[in-house]
Amino acid sequence: MVIENKVPGKDVLSSDLTDKFPLVAKKSHDHFSKFEISGVEFGGSLIPVFAGPNMIESENLIFEIAHSVKNSGAHFLRGGAFKPLSFPYRSEKYNETRHDGLNWMYQAGQDANIPIITEVMDQRLVQDIAAVTDIIQIGSRNMQNYPLLTECAKTQKPLMLKRHYGASLRDWLGAAEYLLVEGNEKVILCERGMSIPHTHRETSRFSLDLQVIPAAKELTHLPIVTDPSHATFWNPWVKSMSLASVAAGADGVMLEVHPNPSEAAVDPLQPLNFEDFAKTISAMDSVARSIKRRVL
Ligand code: PEP
Ligand code: MN
Repeated sequence: MVIENKVPGKDVLSSDLTDKFPLVAKKSHDHFSKFEISGVEFGGSLIPVFAGPNMIESENLIFEIAHSVKNSGAHFLRGGAFKPLSFPYRSEKYNETRHDGLNWMYQAGQDANIPIITEVMDQRLVQDIAAVTDIIQIGSRNMQNYPLLTECAKTQKPLMLKRHYGASLRDWLGAAEYLLVEGNEKVILCERGMSIPHTHRETSRFSLDLQVIPAAKELTHLPIVTDPSHATFWNPWVKSMSLASVAAGADGVMLEVHPNPSEAAVDPLQPLNFEDFAKTISAMDSVARSIKRRVL
């Protein structure tokens, strides 16, 4: 009977846990993966923070941000050199910095002594990016680009798989299985907001699905982080959603940070400035300590 084949109230069938994503599925109630990436522990009491610009706009910018977020306690520097930009036209400012940006980010990470995470969109660039980054980010738009997933997984680099803004938990976990089946065990899931009709502001496009954190933890041992910047698209809401993520059990938080948010070349409504980032990470640490975890 259908009901016997279901985990009650979920669109995940109990048979999925053994047949569709056995490597992603928990083996027991208290099975949660713990691993280290560049000296930072995931899935333990620490809740690592990934911080940086949306786009690596210039060498100066990424160096300035690297030092600032590191000083405030961030564990990873984020930023895109190869960006999934929504429209094909470019200007001097709205322009991917590609291999230059990747190199600047690598240098900035070394200079500020902070590991880095950056996105790969194109199978042809996987090796170039894997050579310098500590974590390869697979963006929401590519969550189900299976050849790209396989290529990234084969590098055996740590991976972050962002959830597509329309994907079910079942499809997300299925995509993660493509990474684990290649023998890659350092996989982090990232919830970055769902596309829904009511987002509370005309400018907002997504809504942070906090509920997916406990839902995912019922099924998978993989750590799950959130990206309140992309989810809210509105920096006044980022701090509260970061605190809520920690309270809801997130194993990490990704935040966009820019010295002059309104001047950011991409998504200028969502980054925190340096001061607000410092306040946010410190408040996240207070919430984390109330549940016997820590951010700083
Ligand atoms: C990003 O993190 O830079 C990004 C493009 O995010 P997403 O894939 O979630 O839109
Ligand atoms: Mn964006």
